[in-house]
Amino acid sequence: MIKQLFSPKTWLLAELVSGMALTLKYFFFKPSVTINYPYEKGPLSPRFRGEHALRRYANGEERCIACKLCEAICPAQAITIEAEERADGSRRTTRYDIDMTKCIYCGFCQEACPVDAIVEGPNFEYATETREELFYDKDKLLSNGDRWESEIAQNLLLDAPYR
Ligand code: SF4
Ligand code: SF4
Repeated sequence: MIKQLFSPKTWLLAELVSGMALTLKYFFFKPSVTINYPYEKGPLSPRFRGEHALRRYANGEERCIACKLCEAICPAQAITIEAEERADGSRRTTRYDIDMTKCIYCGFCQEACPVDAIVEGPNFEYATETREELFYDKDKLLSNGDRWESEIAQNLLLDAPYR
């Protein structure tokens, strides 16, 4: 303690000065590491697992063929599907619900889907005021798909070499 008291480093405030120099260096010469959210947003990985969406083909037809693989694999049992055969013999869902309050965002539903119908899109801004708003039905999921299709398609393309 006594030794420190009489040290020139202490009297010259060397540590304080070097700390201030570091502060000024970052203040004036280094790029800012903070962003002005929500007006600015950071980059997202193509594998980001955000809000779910059901996709359509370019002709507007639903991709989902009601195979229920996503429902079977979901570890949180958050997905509920009902299906029936159409007049043309194709199989489509009549009900596709996701309880987003149960979902743990594992991405298994997306991995299991043979036709890239259910995906976790790039949207992370879907906070709600009530739990009920997080009980997603088929219309909500399809509208998410319509809204985010270009970003989702681009992300799937970027991730395709690694799947
Ligand atoms: S992300 Fe995981 S928990 Fe959420 S719905 Fe898909 S499979 Fe279920
Ligand atoms: S979303 Fe995919 S995995 Fe789920 S039922 Fe439809 S086709 Fe099958």
